[in-house]
Amino acid sequence: MSDAQPASLEAKSPYELRVHLGDGLPEQSVRDALATGDMGFLHSYTTGSTVDGPGVRVVAWTTGCMWRCQYCHNPDTWTMTNGIPVSVTRAVEELKKYQHGLKIMAGGFTLSGGEPLVQHRFAAKLLAAAKSLRIHTTIETNGFYGDKLSDAELDTIDLVMLGLKTWDPARHRALTGQDVAPTIAFARRLAARRKPIWIRFVLVPGLTDDLDDLARTAEFAAGLGNVERVEVLPFHQLGRFKWERLGLDYPLRATAAPSPALIERALTVLHTAGLKAF
Ligand code: SF4
Repeated sequence: MSDAQPASLEAKSPYELRVHLGDGLPEQSVRDALATGDMGFLHSYTTGSTVDGPGVRVVAWTTGCMWRCQYCHNPDTWTMTNGIPVSVTRAVEELKKYQHGLKIMAGGFTLSGGEPLVQHRFAAKLLAAAKSLRIHTTIETNGFYGDKLSDAELDTIDLVMLGLKTWDPARHRALTGQDVAPTIAFARRLAARRKPIWIRFVLVPGLTDDLDDLARTAEFAAGLGNVERVEVLPFHQLGRFKWERLGLDYPLRATAAPSPALIERALTVLHTAGLKAF
């Protein structure tokens, strides 16, 4: 199968709005891609990232997500066929270009999204290929489909960056549209396998800034024993234009970024639980 629009695979940043790039692909091809993982849908590749795992990273951003986070800054990645259809062979060839540079810079490859495990067969193949190139591998995931990866597939992943939003089930459903239980179960499975986790926590005033709730999340995370750090990501409005351009009703259009004092308070809660947090 040939890839469509190969010229636009690399992006300056994931904030580029991309839509309809996979439209027109026969439905059967989409089903085959999901079943075999021989082809996947990518929003883009970016290079030189220093915020998506250790060292300098090449990041592949997949399309498709089963959550609808109120603060999502990339809603164009929700729909899988907004991405570019890319064969796994081509995706690996792209990665090979950076193989030596990534080793020199102690970096690696990060598969992010969207939610990469919506395309779990493609994700498994791409991560295994990166591992066989001896490239450090990271997946950034919400963990909801963590059970789709076998233990052997998990072994090809060096680091999991897990988006843990809140401990409270009702709050989680309101925030993301989905249950928190699968994410918790995946975190426990990673702990049992001693797989390193970095947690990403988006701090949104009025939404995720309940410090009692954060304390319970922190207690859980600290108890796992494999959480190496928690990154507190202050909410921002960089994704607002995407909601507007896509004709979506953005619930956080009037929400401000958290104050430095609120960020400090959140960090204190995490430190108190014994976590490294930044
Ligand atoms: S899990 Fe990530 S991509 Fe999916 S809706 Fe939430 S923030 Fe957006």
